[in-house]
Amino acid sequence: MSSVAIISEQLRCIVMTTALKGRYMNEQNQETVLDPKDRKPLEELRKQLTFSFKNLWNPENQEEMNAVMAFCEDYKVALNKGKTERKFVMFAVDLLEKNGFRAFNPDEQLAAGDRVYDSVQGKGLIAAVIGSDSPDKGFNMIGSHVDSPRLDLKPNPLYETDDLAFLKTHYYGGIKKYLWVAIPLALHGFVTLNDGSTINISIGDKDEDPVFYISDLLVHLASDYMQKKASEVVAGEELNVLVGGIPITNDEDVKERFKLGILKLLYDQYGIVERNLLTAEIEIVPAVKARDVGFDRAFVGGYGQDDRVCAYTSLRALIDINQPIRRTALCVFYDKEEIGSSGVTGARSQLYLSVQKRIVRSMLNREPSAFELIDNIENSVMLSSDVAAAYDPTYASVFDPRNSTYAGRGIAIVKYVGRGGKGNTSDASAEYFDEVTKLLDKNNIPWQTGELGRVDQGGGGTVAMFQADFGITVIDCGVPILSMHSCFEVASKIDIYMAYKAYNVFLKQMRVED
Ligand code: MN
Ligand code: MN
Repeated sequence: MSSVAIISEQLRCIVMTTALKGRYMNEQNQETVLDPKDRKPLEELRKQLTFSFKNLWNPENQEEMNAVMAFCEDYKVALNKGKTERKFVMFAVDLLEKNGFRAFNPDEQLAAGDRVYDSVQGKGLIAAVIGSDSPDKGFNMIGSHVDSPRLDLKPNPLYETDDLAFLKTHYYGGIKKYLWVAIPLALHGFVTLNDGSTINISIGDKDEDPVFYISDLLVHLASDYMQKKASEVVAGEELNVLVGGIPITNDEDVKERFKLGILKLLYDQYGIVERNLLTAEIEIVPAVKARDVGFDRAFVGGYGQDDRVCAYTSLRALIDINQPIRRTALCVFYDKEEIGSSGVTGARSQLYLSVQKRIVRSMLNREPSAFELIDNIENSVMLSSDVAAAYDPTYASVFDPRNSTYAGRGIAIVKYVGRGGKGNTSDASAEYFDEVTKLLDKNNIPWQTGELGRVDQGGGGTVAMFQADFGITVIDCGVPILSMHSCFEVASKIDIYMAYKAYNVFLKQMRVED
C-alpha cells in the first residue's frame, strides 16, 4: 500500500468514527470539529497531495549564505563591465580565456575536454565544453541574450540649439521613456575612424568621468504635460542627451560654435570626426553601478540584468564544468532579443547554427553528413534562459498570485511566455518540462514556475520560439526580476545563485544516463 493509500485509509477510519460519535455533519448541517489528534493524518495527506514553492533563504546555512554572497560580488563586476552587448561579450571572452577556453578555429580537431568559444560578430557568443559523446547525440545548450533596453544614437546625432549641445537618440527595446530623464547617463560606443581602425569608447561609468543627461520638465511648468498619458509624457523625440555647453570660442559669428566645441574634444581625444558618428554604434545607458539592495543585502540592483543575469550565471555554470562530460555543453549569448531577435546577430540568425555545425565538424574531424547535422540539432536540448517577472505586491493587480514567480524562490522554469492566447511563444511540451524539473529535483536544485502576469495584461517574448523553429527542444527559464526593463532592475541573490547551480547541472547531466 502506498503512503497516500495508508493515509487515505486512516482518514476513512477517522471519518467513520467521527460519524458514529454523531459529530459528523448532523441534520442542521453544522461544521464537523475534528479532534486535534485526528487532524494530523489530514495534514499528512495535504503534504502528500499538494505542491507549493518555498522561499529559499536559510540564514542558518552559513556556508550557502557565504557562497551566495560571494557569487553575487562577481556578478556585480560583470554587470558593471558589460553594460552593452559588445562590452558583455568582451567581458565574457576575457573570463573564458582566464579559465582555459581558447578561440575556436574551425580547421582544428576538437576532443573531449576541449574548451572553446566563438564570437558572433562581437555581439553574440558561443562557448563550448566538448563532451565524449558523438555530436549526433545532441548538445546541452543554454541560450540567453546580452542586449538590454537602451537609447541608441541616431545616425546624425550631434546638434546645438540655444547655447546647448545635444545628441539625438532612438530608443531600443521596450522602455518607459519617462524613466530615462533626470538620471546620470553613460555612453558606450563602437566607432570606425577615417583610417579604418575601430575604437571602443566608454564615458560615464568611472567615478572621475562626466555623465550625460536628458532633462525633465520642471513640475512648476508641467500643468499641461501632467495631463498626458504616461506613454506620451516624454516622447521619443524628447530623449535628447545634453553633452555640452562651452562654445569653441566666444566669437558669436562662428557658426555652430557649441557643436564645434564638442567635435574638437572628440577629435582630440579619439580622432573622431562627424562623418564617423554616422556609421558608429553608440549606446546610452544609465550611469549606475550594480549595488546591493536592502538592509540585509538580499538583492542585487543594477542596469541590464535582463538578461545578463542569465548570461552570467550560465557562463559561470559552463566555466565551472571541471570534470569530463558526456554531452557537449554550449553556452550561447544572443543579441537583438529586445527588438525581436532579428538581425544577423539575433537568435533567428543562421550564424549561431553555423558555429554549431562547425563544432560538429571539428568533433568528427571530417565533413559531417547532412543527417549527422540534422541529428545534432534535433537531439540538442536547450534552456532558453531569460528573466521572469517577479511578483510585485505593490502592483498586485497585474499578477495572478497563484501563477507568478517570486523573488527568493529560485529559478523559474516557464512552459510558455507570449501574449494574449499564448501568441508568439514556443510552449514547451509536458514531457520536456517534466524531464528538466525532475533533473533539478534529483539534484536537489529548487525551482518554481509561473506566468509573466495576468492573462491579457500584456506579455513578452524570448528566444525560445526561434530555437524551437530550428528543431531544438527548448523550455524557458530564468531569474525573477523586479522592475524589469527599468534603469535599475532588482534580483534576489539566492535566485541568481540557484540559477547558476541549475544551469551547471543541466549542462553536465541533462540526457545523460546514470
Ligand atoms: Mn529578456
Ligand atoms: Mn527584456
